[in-house]
Amino acid sequence: MSSETEEKRSKAQPNGCERAFVRGNKIKWFWAPAFFGFWLLLYVTISIPACHRLPRPLTIQDEATHPDQFIAERAEKNLRELVSLGPRVVGSRQNEMAALKMLSQKMQKIRSGTANDIEVDVQVASGSYVHWSMVNMYQSIQNIVVKISPKNSNSTTYLLVNSHYDSVPAGPGAGDDGSMVATMMEVLRVLAKSDKPLKNPVVFLFNGAEENPLQASHAFITQHKWAKYCKALINLDSCGNGGREILFQSGPNHPWLMKNYRRAIKHPYASTMGEELFQHNFIPSDTDFRIFRDHGSVPGLDMAYTYNGFVYHTRHDTAEIFPRGSFQHTGDNLLALVRQIANSPEIENSAKYAKGHTIYFDVMGWFLVFYTETEGVILNVIVSLVSIGICGYAIKLISVNSGIKLEKILRKVGHTLLVQILSVVVGAVLPVLLGLFMDAVHLPLSWFSNSWLILGLYFTTFFFGLAIVPALYFHWTKHDKLPIGQRIQLLLHCHCVLLSVLTLIFTICGIRSVFVLMLSCLFYTVGLIINIATKLHTKDVAWVIPHIVCTVPPFVFFAYFSHGFFTTFIPMFGRFGENLNPDLAVAVFSVAVGFLCCGFIIPVLQLFNKSKTIICGLMGITLLCFIIAMTPIGFPYRPQTNVQRFAVLHTKRTFHDAENNVRRQESGYFIMPQDRRTYTVKNAVINMTQAQRIGSDCDKEINCGLPLYNQRWHKTRKNSLWIPASPPVLGENVPTVLLLSKNTVSATRIRYEMQLSGPNHMALFIQPLNGAKMMDWSFHQAPLRLSFEPPYFIYFSWGVNGDPLKFWLELEKPNGNWNSTTVELGLGGHWTHHKELITPDFRKFLDSFPHYVDATPWPASFESRIF
Ligand SMILES: [Zn+2]
Repeated sequence: MSSETEEKRSKAQPNGCERAFVRGNKIKWFWAPAFFGFWLLLYVTISIPACHRLPRPLTIQDEATHPDQFIAERAEKNLRELVSLGPRVVGSRQNEMAALKMLSQKMQKIRSGTANDIEVDVQVASGSYVHWSMVNMYQSIQNIVVKISPKNSNSTTYLLVNSHYDSVPAGPGAGDDGSMVATMMEVLRVLAKSDKPLKNPVVFLFNGAEENPLQASHAFITQHKWAKYCKALINLDSCGNGGREILFQSGPNHPWLMKNYRRAIKHPYASTMGEELFQHNFIPSDTDFRIFRDHGSVPGLDMAYTYNGFVYHTRHDTAEIFPRGSFQHTGDNLLALVRQIANSPEIENSAKYAKGHTIYFDVMGWFLVFYTETEGVILNVIVSLVSIGICGYAIKLISVNSGIKLEKILRKVGHTLLVQILSVVVGAVLPVLLGLFMDAVHLPLSWFSNSWLILGLYFTTFFFGLAIVPALYFHWTKHDKLPIGQRIQLLLHCHCVLLSVLTLIFTICGIRSVFVLMLSCLFYTVGLIINIATKLHTKDVAWVIPHIVCTVPPFVFFAYFSHGFFTTFIPMFGRFGENLNPDLAVAVFSVAVGFLCCGFIIPVLQLFNKSKTIICGLMGITLLCFIIAMTPIGFPYRPQTNVQRFAVLHTKRTFHDAENNVRRQESGYFIMPQDRRTYTVKNAVINMTQAQRIGSDCDKEINCGLPLYNQRWHKTRKNSLWIPASPPVLGENVPTVLLLSKNTVSATRIRYEMQLSGPNHMALFIQPLNGAKMMDWSFHQAPLRLSFEPPYFIYFSWGVNGDPLKFWLELEKPNGNWNSTTVELGLGGHWTHHKELITPDFRKFLDSFPHYVDATPWPASFESRIF
């Protein structure tokens, strides 16, 4: 610095306002809590409420003044009626008869007194498809399909709207997915009596087997007479209860769908990031959307509730906790969207518009931003390059104003850039270490009920790492000629350059969600331009004002966005299984979100007096929150609201030898932990001390000797627990395989004709023995064609008709030795909805679980047979 500028600086007299805030060339240290408080206040008063804002629900009384509108109270009545039937499991009377009857009657009522044509069709269908390594086979499952068309329409372009009325055995399925069924019914009612005509018919698919999984949508799209006319889809599902429905998948391709969503929607809530996460399998669920896409090539929009996922698939997923405002939110949107898409010119020739991906996001639920991927690439590149350019210009100005040679400044820029990269690395490593530590000291999920602990544990740790590295750098180089205010600006410029480069890299990688980094750069650059234009950038402290003002909008938006993200994901850690350390995942999320929201905020801490003390104060907060995590506040579970999940199968296992003699038989409780904290229950439950890991059975028996019918359970089955117990009571139709005939096809080939009967949820495992090879069978051909690894897994489920299934297997033995055994069958059966089959012993066992546990009980059987 030249002596002249130094003189100028020291001569400048601070005014009164400055004196209150500034001491020397830094901000007084006691303003630091206000600085943190300011951002926290923005988050709490703007971002969080925007995330949970619901419209005023309309009541039946409002109907007269709101003609042609969705009435939330009616939808709520529909839901209560449906849920009062109890859990609606495929094959149960509740699902196949009661729910069907209730829905059909409602549809008949809507049909009478409408100017439109309404056709109601009950589809009963059988079929199969391959999902991962499993053949998913169904018999006589049901759909209620309702088509509403304008009078005398001969249009062959339909819009399909889908939601499912079946539920898991565990709960009443109000949020998932009764709420959407109820909403669809109300939308259908409004459309039916409306005098605004539809241009094209709309097919409402009340889907009777989604939890089974995804069978009814497959049945519809591959077999129903209207399927081939369905040119676009709106899929409505839920992994929570209430809140706002998020649009998280669109297309694939077909940007016209998003265009119409934007035009129609009253309450936008949509995220490209959700789409990318979902399509890269980060979310442990699947929706019918995939079936319609893969088996019917129907493009569409996939929407779901994600709020309050704690109750998802538990008995606490009730109608009472579902807010009326959520009905209004979804109902307004769905009604407008159905009209918009069914009347759009694009749906009639959708192939013509099937080009390109889109980037979309809502801003605070106020409006939707939407552009094509190509526009996104152009935008990202322009913003990144302009940001780098402006930062470069600002760096040149620092050289001009300070009188320091540009080469020297550029060397400083190099150092600062390295410091910023190092601080991000340190910032990322510290929370990850903390996540590993929390797990090691048996405190995972401490934030499951009190999610603010994530802020105090992981965000603060990240901020500490991000801030301490530059603080030390400035401390060690404090005799630098450049004033601290200028050096901090340099640090921020470096952060902006870093983000711009990342934006360019991710854009090249084709990641659409990178628009968030682009926005971050954009707003920073605007602040910088204001600073340069007003010459505030030459000041020690005042430059921070435009900087903060321009950081507020992206912060509020990112915080809104991230809050929705955490609200969705936190409950999922209660069902990600035992193998994932949830604290590690949350640490990684915190780093990503903290980097995004606060990357331009944390460096400002360097501008305070006693900045190192302030930064170390962050670690004090972490320590405090760690202590809180050890107290009951940090205990993850709460009865009713934040339960711990277990699936408990009261199982009888029978293993046969080649002579069909029983070689092993035992009964017990088979328990599948769903999260990381199984051990807390282990100490509380009777008999749990006798629990054995099932692992060793996996080497000895087909499918570990377990009756699992759910594909999702297979990954974690080795960790499952087995507790010996008295035998279960099984239903009358115990799973049975009958050998009908055994015929030699050739010297090396043999054919078995068999018959399978049993309860409505069965799993059949087939393992060829002694060098035998499966050559052909009556099941889906894909496992043989694609050479799946045996044992082959056939999941078989029936709805309204439980007739035995006839099937055949053709096996080949190259040596033609038919004296040894040829094939082993493992047969699992489940009674998923028979409370009367729960024995007193089983009840006692379930009651011994702590009160915060939600255990889904059901009797099951497993049998092995050798042929
Ligand atoms: Zn569902």
